[in-house]
Amino acid sequence: MTDVLVIGAGAAGLTAAIYACRAGLSCTVIEKEAAGGQILNSPEVANFPALPSVTGFDFSMALYNQAQSFGAKIEYADVTAANIRGQAKHLETSAGHFEGRTLIIANGAKRRHLGCEGEERLAGHGVSYCATCDGAFFRGKDVAMVGGGNTALEDALYLSTICRRVYLIHRRDGFRAAEVLVKSAEERENIQMELSCDVLSINGDSAVESVTIKNCHEDGARTIPVSAVFVAVGLAPDNGLFAGTLELDKSGYIVAGEDCRTNIEGVFAAGDTRTKQLRQLVTAAADGAVAAYGAAGLLNVGGGF
Ligand code: NAP
Repeated sequence: MTDVLVIGAGAAGLTAAIYACRAGLSCTVIEKEAAGGQILNSPEVANFPALPSVTGFDFSMALYNQAQSFGAKIEYADVTAANIRGQAKHLETSAGHFEGRTLIIANGAKRRHLGCEGEERLAGHGVSYCATCDGAFFRGKDVAMVGGGNTALEDALYLSTICRRVYLIHRRDGFRAAEVLVKSAEERENIQMELSCDVLSINGDSAVESVTIKNCHEDGARTIPVSAVFVAVGLAPDNGLFAGTLELDKSGYIVAGEDCRTNIEGVFAAGDTRTKQLRQLVTAAADGAVAAYGAAGLLNVGGGF
């Protein structure tokens, strides 16, 4: 049995692993996709203290290597069931059974979908949720980016460097993203803002050919020819596995305070998966440290991080 089981190898999970290992605890991190989590696909991270500019990929690799260098074990598996009420925390996964004396849930959040006509049918055929993964397929083409948060603005800026034109479609006339990103996008000649617009449908037979939008201040809809539609309309938690066991808020986030403790002793929630105001790389990393500190305290290991 490992001292600290961690679900998720993003910023929160890997930081938890670093802190747990440095406290002398054994730690296994279970990740279903690639180490690094959400930040892995960020074209640029510019707001992590003392790292003025780093790609999400480089950040993720550095964090992964750091966690491994302190002895964290990373297992690639999908968690399919959890029995976490007792003293030992049991996880069933696609790679078998794991048991921990404590559990840190740092499974992040998954990308929200628009829910419009054509989106699911054309996913992977021009509808994408990752501009850095798929942008290069649309070099020199016209594309659409949907959303008004940091991800949408960062991705629109990135796409504008490789695509001919980027239509930035947002449902309001004000952005949620950082002002510095909004200003850069406004100044970029090949980004065309389509504000106060809802996406009605994404169209095409076997691949995206156009997107139909409706401006809420105007009558009628407009269809814009594009080869791809990138969607960045926020994140949703993925905590169905814990419903009925852990206390979740109405949006599905795990209820936990700044100490990352959940309603079950020995189970912590760190990073985007828990109720919190500011979901950022730096707050996810901080949660990882706090959760590992809590786990170490329960296991009677003091200090030494
Ligand atoms: P977000 O900040 O939640 O923004 C989601 C955007 O999508 C909002 O503008 C929202 O519109 C819009 N939206 C939501 N549902 C929609 C729908 N059904 N149809 C159309 N538009 C919809 O999400 P995010 O940009 O993915 O960022 C997630 C978190 O990661 C945030 O906390 C963000 O700050 C953080 N992040 C940080 C960085 C960075 O600091 N470098 C980079 C990327 C992400 P409304 O504004 O009208 O609600």
